[in-house]
Amino acid sequence: MKNLIYVVAVFAIISCNTKAQETTEETAKEYTVVKSEAEWKELLSAQEYNILRQAGTERPFTSPLNKEYKPGTLVCAACYAPLYDNLNKFDSGTGWPSYDRAIEGQVERDVDYKLGYARTELKCNTCGSHLGHEFNDGPRKTTGKRHCINGVALNFIPEGEDLPAIRK
Ligand SMILES: [Zn+2]
Repeated sequence: MKNLIYVVAVFAIISCNTKAQETTEETAKEYTVVKSEAEWKELLSAQEYNILRQAGTERPFTSPLNKEYKPGTLVCAACYAPLYDNLNKFDSGTGWPSYDRAIEGQVERDVDYKLGYARTELKCNTCGSHLGHEFNDGPRKTTGKRHCINGVALNFIPEGEDLPAIRK
């Protein structure tokens, strides 16, 4: 009986994943910046490619952006679209750069089941590259959200410097 329950549970998880994939395909959107994976591979470093295009995760406490609190803008390391204002950064203690909100309309939410349960994946709304995940344990005084972002996915542009043009 226990085995049967296990089989049913596994089947349910597989079905959920299949369903999720179908839904993603049905609603696949057109991004402003579209490149083939071969083109991305050429433009990005191996680590950037792994994180941005294959939804990898950098090791915690490795990004120099963890300790970057100067005023400025964080742009997508793939297409250079502005994603975060450094004013919205906070120290989450997790070892990943954390923000309580994105620049409005610039970051897309998606669902991923990689760990076997639903998590909110954050992607660049301009090129669809993976940035990190959103959690509900952010600062309660502001949004309550924690955008847990791979530093490798972001480039910091200090205030006063021109933002780069979108890499099309
Ligand atoms: Zn992008």
